[in-house]
Amino acid sequence: MNAERLMTGGCMCGAVRYEVSGEPFLVSHCHCRSCRKHNGGPVVTLAGYKKDQVRFSGEERRIYASSPGVGRAFCGTCGTPLTWEGDGGEELGQIVEFHLSTFDEPEALKPTGHAFYSERISWFDTADSLPRYEGFVEMSPLLGHGPA
Ligand SMILES: [Zn+2]
Ligand SMILES: [Zn+2]
Repeated sequence: MNAERLMTGGCMCGAVRYEVSGEPFLVSHCHCRSCRKHNGGPVVTLAGYKKDQVRFSGEERRIYASSPGVGRAFCGTCGTPLTWEGDGGEELGQIVEFHLSTFDEPEALKPTGHAFYSERISWFDTADSLPRYEGFVEMSPLLGHGPA
């Protein structure tokens, strides 16, 4: 019997629900302009899963194609921004990254780094000592640890 972790989440009104099984391949903060624009906050925290770990239920999510091959999903009823969806590369295939605070128990997932730190709003930082990257976590130059 496989005891894979199951986590659930959904939008603010509850129309769109999702379930993920197993562990995310990455949990990280993202400071990029697109994520901030989609979310409306100064930073977004994302938990990424392979598409086959993810199951949506309830109302169909709406998807905005923010660039070729990239979808950003939201609830058509309450507008909650839910995901970044697209190609995760050869190893991962299609991926779904969830905005962490849409999980029912977001505290169960802890970020390990900051992505696109170079694009952050200059007055915003956090007190953690996690590594800050210029672009994607562990795939771009490391800028340092801890706040600027
Ligand atoms: Zn909703
Ligand atoms: Zn981003």
